[in-house]
Amino acid sequence: MNHKVIIGLEVHVELKTQSKMFCDCSAQYFGEKPNTHTCPVCLGLPGALPVPNQQAIEWCVQIGQALNCSIPLFAKFDRKNYFYPDLPKGYQISQYDQPFCLNGHIEINGKKIGITRVHMEEDTGKLTHEQNASLIDFNRSGVPLVEIVTEPDFDNVKDVKAYLQKLQQIVRYLGVSDADMEKGQMRLEPNISVSLNPSAKALPKYKVEVKNINSFGFVEKAIDFEIKRQLEILEKGGMPVQETRGWDETKNATVSQRIKEEANDYRYFPEPDIPPIRWTEKQIAELKSKLPELADKKQARFQKDFGLSEYEAEILTKEKALADYFEEAVRVVGNKITPKQLANHIINRKIDIQLILPAKLVEEVIQSTKVEDVSADELKTIIQTVLKDNPKIAEDYKKGKDNVIQFAIGQVMYILRKKIDTNIVRNLILEELK
Ligand SMILES: [Zn+2]
Repeated sequence: MNHKVIIGLEVHVELKTQSKMFCDCSAQYFGEKPNTHTCPVCLGLPGALPVPNQQAIEWCVQIGQALNCSIPLFAKFDRKNYFYPDLPKGYQISQYDQPFCLNGHIEINGKKIGITRVHMEEDTGKLTHEQNASLIDFNRSGVPLVEIVTEPDFDNVKDVKAYLQKLQQIVRYLGVSDADMEKGQMRLEPNISVSLNPSAKALPKYKVEVKNINSFGFVEKAIDFEIKRQLEILEKGGMPVQETRGWDETKNATVSQRIKEEANDYRYFPEPDIPPIRWTEKQIAELKSKLPELADKKQARFQKDFGLSEYEAEILTKEKALADYFEEAVRVVGNKITPKQLANHIINRKIDIQLILPAKLVEEVIQSTKVEDVSADELKTIIQTVLKDNPKIAEDYKKGKDNVIQFAIGQVMYILRKKIDTNIVRNLILEELK
């Protein structure tokens, strides 16, 4: 490649505390009647005073700890001043130079990604634009929001996606947010720049930020679009403008929104209504000791203790609820069947953990061992071989010729030569073709 891509990320995550960040209004606003979760504090009425939510602050620190950040013993809130109709006070309470968490890192696809900071702030109200009017709902105003900022350490979109998935998994494991993108509980802002010198050490003199993206798919598209757009400008000898852009779903393009503000445009100053936060080492250590076992560790333990393959352990630890379910089943099963057989049953049959209790599942697995057992790995390898040897299957399937799946199942069964439920094979083939 004759260029270098530089990407950093800012991610906002809404916490699922009972109450808002600085008042006791309910923070559970999704689907509620507009302007029913409000009070003088979150409406920004004169004289109303904010009281910080301890739970939210502790969760913010724990997110930082899960991302290997250091937690300074002194932190404070600041006012970020700007005017916008969804911000009733005329400023947002955020953190500027002394946030709760600093200098962390996380490993993605074998690469170390730096976490610059994790800080606490409050969400704004929500504007809806109708034909002749703009409507405002303040239910979201003051909901606790954590911002996680990375170093510009990404050089490709694949790692960005892996990072976002990992981050979503971490906050879900911590139980501090559902991070549901469709409900706006996790919002993504990549900043992208390109250098024509692939070995350049210094960052380019500009960066383009794409604001408030609400799906992993759109982030991918927005980054791809920006790389192409910026490359075209650079190759003509120009310099892309430093600006904020938005992702336009209908145009499948990013569009210019405003020329990027500098920090001093916000006239940050310490929030006078909230005293600074001083931690003791003991408090920080206590929060850290309460962190649950996260997915990476759990996966390693499942491989080691239960003899699962990397693939099996990864699937079972993707969501904490499924991991807990599996462990409960292992506990119930004793030594009648191996954890690996249990794991394969759960994975191959796509067990819905809402519908069947672990004890019941164990009975089912014991019954089914009468049919020959095939490991998920073995099956997956065979399916991948069949799809590779018959590229026409994927081609035809993409064209909508669904009956090609039957042919694929036949090929897999021919190689496998064992009795197995064909629905399992069908599901796994469809998964591979996704
Ligand atoms: Zn309120």
